[in-house]
Amino acid sequence: MAAALEVKDLEVVYQGVIQALTSLSLTVQEGAIVTLLGANGAGKTTTLKAISGFLPLENGRVTRGSITIGGQDLLRLAPHQIVRRGIFQVREGRHVFSEMTVEENLVAATFAQRKPRSRKEAFDEVYNYFPILSQRRGQAAGYLSGGEQQMLAIGRALVADPEMILLDEPSLGLAPLIVKEIFEIIARINREKGVSMLLVEQNAVIALKYASYGYVIESGRTVLEGTTEKLSADQDIQKFYLGVD
Ligand code: ATP
Repeated sequence: MAAALEVKDLEVVYQGVIQALTSLSLTVQEGAIVTLLGANGAGKTTTLKAISGFLPLENGRVTRGSITIGGQDLLRLAPHQIVRRGIFQVREGRHVFSEMTVEENLVAATFAQRKPRSRKEAFDEVYNYFPILSQRRGQAAGYLSGGEQQMLAIGRALVADPEMILLDEPSLGLAPLIVKEIFEIIARINREKGVSMLLVEQNAVIALKYASYGYVIESGRTVLEGTTEKLSADQDIQKFYLGVD
């Protein structure tokens, strides 16, 4: 259990003034699926961006706290070094290259490959998890359905052979059946490859079902944490996130 990701007392400021995180802490144990719940603007995406090293691209800065994996300080690393360290973010809204084919999108992810393996081996693994992408491999990604684009975005992460995938709202805008299909595959990747997942989701029902541990954040702070079993039984969670009266 060496490579736990630990975020401690993180404070993030955008443009020198907007305090997006005030004191955010979380741990993702190796091989776990952990979810981050919170209202719009609570700081979920900011947390993922801080871990991936993307904040400077948006004039954001970590002003206090730490992010480490297996004890290594991630705050000292550039985004490409964080990818090489095995942490790959699948951004909200999928961000596939829409004019490029499915396979070209996978080729574009090979820059991040961590272990020497042939493209064929890497792509076969993606097509094994997402057979529909194999059928669509010659099609422009922009013509894929929303669910297929989400699969491609996760497929690109797989090409990199990550230790951990940061997933930002994978269910956004997708029909319930497709969401279930994608989450079943996420769970398989977790189980079969031991890839840990940090999952940001508006869909708390699905997040609490697939994750084993969760954190609730409000105004940039961690306010509640526990096993998803415990969180699912919490009255506030039921009221605010699960719509139970
Ligand atoms: P959502 O579910 O709406 O994406 P979130 O929990 O992911 O919400 P963040 O996107 O992390 O929340 O935003 C946290 C706070 O930081 C918000 O007040 C938001 O307005 C602010 N913020 C986010 N990105 C930027 C940015 N690039 N520049 C300035 N402020 C930002």
